[in-house]
Amino acid sequence: MTTVLVTGGAGFLGSHLCDRLIERGDDVICLDNFFTGKRRNIRHLLDHPQFEVIRHDIVHPVYLEVDRIFNLACPASPEAYQYNPIKTIKTSTVGMVNMMGLAKRCRARILHASTSEVYGDPQVHPQTEDYWGHVNPIGPRSCYDEGKRIAESLMMNYHESHGTEIRIMRIFNTYGPRMDPNDGRVISNFIRQALAGDDITVYGDGTQTRSFCYVDDLIEGMLRLMDQDEHIGPVNIGNPVENTMLELAEAVIAATNSSSKITFHPLPRDDPKQRCPDITRARQWLDWEPTIPLSEGLKHTIAWQRGLS
Ligand code: NAD
Ligand code: UDP
Repeated sequence: MTTVLVTGGAGFLGSHLCDRLIERGDDVICLDNFFTGKRRNIRHLLDHPQFEVIRHDIVHPVYLEVDRIFNLACPASPEAYQYNPIKTIKTSTVGMVNMMGLAKRCRARILHASTSEVYGDPQVHPQTEDYWGHVNPIGPRSCYDEGKRIAESLMMNYHESHGTEIRIMRIFNTYGPRMDPNDGRVISNFIRQALAGDDITVYGDGTQTRSFCYVDDLIEGMLRLMDQDEHIGPVNIGNPVENTMLELAEAVIAATNSSSKITFHPLPRDDPKQRCPDITRARQWLDWEPTIPLSEGLKHTIAWQRGLS
């Protein structure tokens, strides 16, 4: 039996990961401070004999005996990570030191949920893992971007100094059921607005791009990266199909059959203009690529958000 720690396990991605780990027979410890996590995401697991929840903040040390660690603890939406930027930095620095210390003591393999934000507002397109990025170190997104960059650096240094087994995963925009409809991210915002018949709020002129990966594909990539023994990463995991935010707004309006109108609002400062993963490494190293197109993923996400109201 493998004992697996999932930090941020009550969040959007973390709760789907807990489901997959339980399904395959692992013992799962879900650790979360419930800043953006929700009990409803894990309620169905609470009585499961292989599942345990700990309310804890990774900024404080924790002593557990585990074989594997998936470190997902960190708010992911710009609104959430900018709410208390110093806390966000502490989570990715002090929290990361605590998680690396735990991995070292337990000789556990640790996978970290890094992000496409390490590339900042990229000048290389699509983004390959050997691109060093274009990040504003003092801008509003820096608490998240620089925090994730330091976390990657900590991982490499623990690996080189102590032989800690690491896996660095750079996650691109992911969506699906259990994404908090009020967390400000674009897909959940647009769906919430379309279902209510409210205006769809496109920031800027809507020509900025993102590439959206459905959660089931993402979790499959995460497990493959953790389970293989050859590569430590970094590996981009995301969908290489790129959409403008205007295209996304139109797709959501069509999929919800909504009467909502598109309205334009100021672009947040330092908002990346384009983002698209090069997933050559994921294809070669993990034999992974996304299988669920945006049209299908939107249907599942819309059905879930509808069910909440
Ligand atoms: P989420 O906000 O739903 O989940 C994050 C979870 O971490 C929440 O349950 C939250 O309560 C918990 N958390 C936050 N700070 C914590 C702390 N100090 N101690 C303990 N728990 C803490 O976000 P998500 O979309 O599920 O993202 C999960 C991870 O994946 C994050 O690390 C995020 O940076 C990364 N990521 C996500 C995306 C995406 O598109 N979803 C993209 C890139 C990277
Ligand atoms: N966005 C938008 N309307 C919204 C929310 C977001 O046009 O209501 C845009 C945002 O400016 C960005 C993109 O959608 O260009 C993705 O934003 P999100 O917050 O989901 O994640 P990001 O990739 O910027 O971290």
